[in-house]
Amino acid sequence: MPHGAAVRSALITGGGRGIGLAIAQRLSRDGFNVAIADVDGAAAVAAVSSLVGRGLALECDVTEPEDVRRAHKAILGEFGQIDSLVHNVGVSREVAISSMTIGDWDAQVLGTLTSAFVVAQEFLPDLVELRGNLTFIGSVNGISAYGHEAYSAAKAGLNSLAQNLCLSYGPFGVRVNVIAPGSIRTEAWHKDGEDRRLEVDTLAEHYPLGRVGTPEDVASAASFIVSSDAAWITGVVLPVDGGLTAGNFAFVRARTASLAP
Ligand code: NDP
Repeated sequence: MPHGAAVRSALITGGGRGIGLAIAQRLSRDGFNVAIADVDGAAAVAAVSSLVGRGLALECDVTEPEDVRRAHKAILGEFGQIDSLVHNVGVSREVAISSMTIGDWDAQVLGTLTSAFVVAQEFLPDLVELRGNLTFIGSVNGISAYGHEAYSAAKAGLNSLAQNLCLSYGPFGVRVNVIAPGSIRTEAWHKDGEDRRLEVDTLAEHYPLGRVGTPEDVASAASFIVSSDAAWITGVVLPVDGGLTAGNFAFVRARTASLAP
């Protein structure tokens, strides 16, 4: 537990649904006060009502520095401090590079990468004060290419931002890490209007562990990375991906007669 903190407090951005909601619920069970900042205010309120401990719902667009400043003030008013920040917001659009507009590109970079800069800049002084930690929810798309150029480039930038902040803020006791999930079954898979739930499940065959992930798989990793059990872990990009990025599973399966023992 950071110095001087009786109860730890965490902010989860985009915690109204999906992976962010699972992280909020898990950190609440772990004993944190949890603030949820989501552009969908009603989703944030519903999410907070599902927590077991103290919570705070904030309608906040994390690409807007003024919104983030207001959220910061509200958290300090409610909890008095903030020692863990999980920046979970990310924006992806299924658009081929050939037809991608500057607007499509910018929306993904703004929502995924620039937003991380905005929240980090706002909250790092608090994290320094409490020797806290900052975690970005990245993606396997930030580690290698899966065909989402803008999103992938933004997630790779997130890894670099985390590594740089790890060096700048390590001497002040602040840890900065990235959790990089593989395919996770969330509502984000239906956002284009088409139901891609079936598609996410069919991706299971690409995973050595034979299934896609759940929001709770990511929340378990977040619970560890923000805890004092991870006190000497900083600057890492931790894949939570059922083995997807370990190697080319399809290639090995195609050229090797037996994968089983
Ligand atoms: P969801 O879209 O299900 O949830 C994200 C939440 O963030 C939504 O409530 C969304 O609101 C909110 N949000 C979006 N933009 C902003 C903003 N500017 N300010 C505040 N809140 C915002 O996403 P997932 O749970 O699927 O993904 C969470 C993170 O995990 C993202 O960073 C994503 O890139 C990453 N990830 C997801 C994977 C997956 O397979 N699902 C795989 C790898 C990484 P609204 O719905 O109204 O836009």
